[in-house]
Amino acid sequence: MELFKTTSAAGHEQVLFCHDQASGLKAIIAIHDSRLGAAMGATRLWPYESEAAALTDALRLSRGMTYKAACANIPMGGGKAVIIAKPEEKTCELLQAYGRFIERLNGRFITGQDINLTPQDVRQINRETQYVVGTQEKSGGPAPVTAIGVLLGMKAAAKYRFGSDSLKGLKVAVQGLGNVGQHLCEWLYKNDAKLFVSDINQAKVSKLARLYGATAVEPEEIYGLDVDIFAPCAMGAILNSQTIPMIKAGIIAGSANNQLEDEQLHGEMLTAKDILYCPDYVINSGGLINVYHELIGYNEKKAISHVHSIYDTLLELFNKANTTGMTTHEASKQLAEERIIKTQQAQMLVSA
Ligand code: NAD
Repeated sequence: MELFKTTSAAGHEQVLFCHDQASGLKAIIAIHDSRLGAAMGATRLWPYESEAAALTDALRLSRGMTYKAACANIPMGGGKAVIIAKPEEKTCELLQAYGRFIERLNGRFITGQDINLTPQDVRQINRETQYVVGTQEKSGGPAPVTAIGVLLGMKAAAKYRFGSDSLKGLKVAVQGLGNVGQHLCEWLYKNDAKLFVSDINQAKVSKLARLYGATAVEPEEIYGLDVDIFAPCAMGAILNSQTIPMIKAGIIAGSANNQLEDEQLHGEMLTAKDILYCPDYVINSGGLINVYHELIGYNEKKAISHVHSIYDTLLELFNKANTTGMTTHEASKQLAEERIIKTQQAQMLVSA
């Protein structure tokens, strides 16, 4: 692999390969863009099949974080870190060694909890570095607020598509009943939506079926359901050439990162099928917004009010895509670039 070619292709500034012999830590920290400020991005622990796969994931996710921050009007850059390990290989020593690498970056990268890390794990990292957000002691885990953002995004999509942002009676299929998916289901239940749920973990499916009267669906059946909204809240790349032809939902609105396997091709396939796709890094930015507020002095009311901007941003994007013929994903990238340049200009004026 030609490393500089790979990392500069998507505009990355810096990629760090972190290795600690004693604990066995192998991690990659990708800083995509720090034009607006320190790079923010949570840390994911995953048993990648290869180092190249881990690098690809870190590069894709960190670029998404730049766009996510910009679309959410957050003056921060985009970054992401991945630890290459199986969940059972996690030790306090490994997490603390990772924390020391972050501390040495001196605030250039700020992180938090992503897949396979628990609040306790983040506490271990936090023992070695101050550059951690979203702990229980600070603003709490990001998932409940991410779910609020997804709910607001669904409402914006319903408003655009059906003329009303009420979700009452709408059929919503939720894929993945983890931290975000479970909170989202609770909100959907409270909003009188008709729920369909699937997860590879049957205990979670049974729990949600019992709690909210949701219809349980096998994982492979979720794509072809005759529903109004499909909410991917599990893993990435699930919108691809195999799944898109099956999808009957008119709206895709979920929390998963990197939902489009190929941003251009699959974005266009969705547009051709007249499926309204809520760009992932816009609709799932609630958690980022919430932890950003820690850095400026946490006030829950202000943070949630900021999360409500997801609704307006999505409506702006849907209209922009409609008038220009772009996909909603392309429209969101353009909006992010515009907001980065505008914020940079404003920052330059202040410092002049
Ligand atoms: P999680 O790990 O708590 O939950 C993921 C769930 O998906 C698990 O219950 C898992 O069993 C299930 N799953 C895995 N493969 C599946 C499959 N094939 N079919 C159905 N279910 C499957 O993760 P989370 O924190 O809820 O996040 C969900 C997604 O949202 C992830 O892609 C994450 O990157 C993204 N996201 C999360 C946040 C946040 O605040 N937690 C913020 C932004 C984006």
